[in-house]
Formats: sequence, structure tokens, C-alpha cells
Amino acid sequence: MKKLALHWQILIGMSFGVLFGLVMTQFSFGKHVIVDWIKPFGTIFINVLKLIAVPLILASLIKGVSDLKNISQLSNMGLRTIILYLLTTLTAVSIGLGIVNLIKPGNSLSETTRTELLNSYANDAAKKQSVAEVQKDAGPLQALVDLVPSNIFSALQDNGNMLQVIFFALLFGLALVLIPKKKSKPVKDFIDSVNDVILKLIDLIMLTAPYGVFALLAAIVVEAPSIDLFKALGLYTITVICGLALMILFYVTIVRIITGKKIGNFLKGISPAQLLAFSTSSSAATLPVTMECVTDKLDVEEEVSSFVLPIGATINMDGTSLYQAVAAVFIAQAFGIDLNFSAQIGIILTATLASIGSAAVPGAGMVMLVIVLAQAGIPEAGLALIFAVDRPLDMCRTSINVTGDASVSIIVSKLLKVK
Ligand code: ASP
Repeated sequence: MKKLALHWQILIGMSFGVLFGLVMTQFSFGKHVIVDWIKPFGTIFINVLKLIAVPLILASLIKGVSDLKNISQLSNMGLRTIILYLLTTLTAVSIGLGIVNLIKPGNSLSETTRTELLNSYANDAAKKQSVAEVQKDAGPLQALVDLVPSNIFSALQDNGNMLQVIFFALLFGLALVLIPKKKSKPVKDFIDSVNDVILKLIDLIMLTAPYGVFALLAAIVVEAPSIDLFKALGLYTITVICGLALMILFYVTIVRIITGKKIGNFLKGISPAQLLAFSTSSSAATLPVTMECVTDKLDVEEEVSSFVLPIGATINMDGTSLYQAVAAVFIAQAFGIDLNFSAQIGIILTATLASIGSAAVPGAGMVMLVIVLAQAGIPEAGLALIFAVDRPLDMCRTSINVTGDASVSIIVSKLLKVK
């Protein structure tokens, strides 16, 4: 019998997870059973994915850079990647702003719901605010300073330091190109085979993906807030989801126009990564699979994907920036604050920067939203309004984040071939 494609297996795992979660909510003991006996397997699955993120970035990026023929090839690819990432993020924020100004979800939030939400989620919102406080106080060049690790081993120890690892890998790969071939060969051979081992590891981990997503989804269902909250925030949720759907439309259009790839093939090829991003809410945890999808299914050369994707997972978050724009304006509308044109331009800039600064982990986009709110003069306590639906929206925006990275990698690969 022909083996079911991975995206179907994952989809079946997710559906069973949701169903099982729904059935278990009918029993008084259901939530405990899932939290104690099922959820840990989901956590283990995410941990194994995260476990290989740093070695994968190191090995694949060093390999990618050292495989390049010369330095100008690197700068060509680097420049195109950064410009495309900026353009897609700016498009995302603009779509977000456009749609939230059109639908105006904040105006429909009743006075009572607003007070209820503010009271129930004030504590959770305050926690996110205090995490963001550190970022807010930083000087304008702090991001640049943070890019350079003072100790590579401590950078390697923390998944939150992806950019520092990327910086080191780029530098190491560059040095490898610059020394004589005879000297670089042993290191290159070693890195090549480490890279192969890691790719094999990803294959092995993906065999467990259907079970992993089953556990994750079942836990999300039993831990979800009551359906009434979703109703109260329905219009806001719909606005974010419509914006994200428009982003998908934008990606398939530019991929089709620039590369000529069939839309169906593109979406089918990237679907395992999208589903995994949806289940884990983390672009970093999804990175190994995103890399596998674009190289195996979408014909992107390894030297392009290994450069473009790790950087994208860390700095390119189109779904997050769109969500931040919608959320900021929604909160302003709910508080009856009128945002003029220059305030909205400010949101475009800060949401772009805030999404670049968001870590590729669950809930990070909401932390950085504090900065967007502060800059636009919107009360930060307003975070409490959107807290209840943040997790499901995080799942959706993370899927868009990885789709954006994959699209840019396909386009960069095409542009480099044309040259
Ligand atoms: N969870 C998102 C990601 O990993 C970031 C966010 O919270 O928006 O891409």
C-alpha cells in the first residue's frame, strides 16, 4: 500500500487531537488526563524539534556559506534576502492596517465585555508588559550589539540567541572560504557529514509528528478559554484571520509571477511546515521541517535554503507584524482612541521592527506588541482585551510566518538563477 503523504498524516493527527480533546472536555477528569498523560508527549515533540535547531543552523549555514564560490555570491544572496524580507513584512503590516480600519472590530466591543476582559486578564497582561519593559528601555543600537555574541558557547546554549548563532556561522563559513582548499577540506568534510546526520535526524523526528501534533492539539482544546470569549472577540479574530488569508494570497501570487511555480504544488510542498507551525506556534521549532520542505519538494538549492530560512525564522515574521498592527488598532478602537495618519505610519514602522525583534517562540509577538502600543500612545493594559484569543491566533500567524520564509527562499533561488 502506498504510504500516506506526511501532510495528510499530520492533518489526521491534528483532527484526532481536536476530537479527543473535545470528547474529554465532557468528562470532569478529562482535562487532567490530557494535561498529565497526553500533553507531555506534545512537549517532548516540540523539545526534540528545538533540540536540533541550533546544530542545524550551525551546520547548514556554515556548509551553505562555505559551498559558495566567492564572497560576491554571498552578498548577492544576502541583499536580496533582506530586501525581500522587509518588503513582505511592510506588505503584511499594511494589509493588517487596511483591514482593521475597514472592519473596525474594536468599535463593536461592548462596554461590559471590555470591563470583564480588562479585569480577568489584567495579571497576564502585566506579565507580558514587564518582559517587554527591558526591550523598551534599550538604546537604538542595542539590537546591533546583541547580534554579536561575546562567547559562542553561551550563545549556543540558548535557543533565544539564534541571531548570534547565525552571526557566528556566517563568519565561520566566510573564513572557511578564505583559507586554502587543502586546509579547509577536513573541516568542510566534517561539517558536511554533520549536516547529513542532522537531516536524517529530522526524517526520524518527523515519523513521530502525527502523534506529536495529536498531543499538542488535544492539550490546546482542553485548555482553551470558554467559547463565550471567542464570541466577544469574534470580529477581532475574524479580522486577523482575513488579513492572514490575504497574505497567503499575496505569497502565492508573487511566487507564481516570479518563479512560475504552480500554486497547488507550492502549497502542497510547504503544507507539512505550515501544519507543524500551526500545532507548535513556533517558527524556530518548525525550521528543520521548513528546510526539508523547500529543498525536497520545492527545488530550492540547499545553499539558498540554509542561508535564507534560518535568518527568516528569526527576523521575518509577516503574520506577527500583521497581527500586531490589527491588535494595536483594535485596542485603540476599543478605548475610543482616534489614531490619525501619522500614528498609523508609526504603527507600520514599529510593527515592522517589533516583528523582527520577536523571538520565534509561542506568544513572543504579544510581548513585542507592548512596544507598538507604547509608541502609538495606546494604553498597554489593553493587552488584557486580546489575551483570551492569543493562542489560536498565534497558531495561525506562525503558519504565515513560515510560509513567508519559504516563499522568499523560492524567490531568492529563482532570482539567483536568472542572474
Ligand atoms: N509564535 C510566533 C513564531 O514563532 C511568534 C509570535 O508570537 O507571533 O513565529
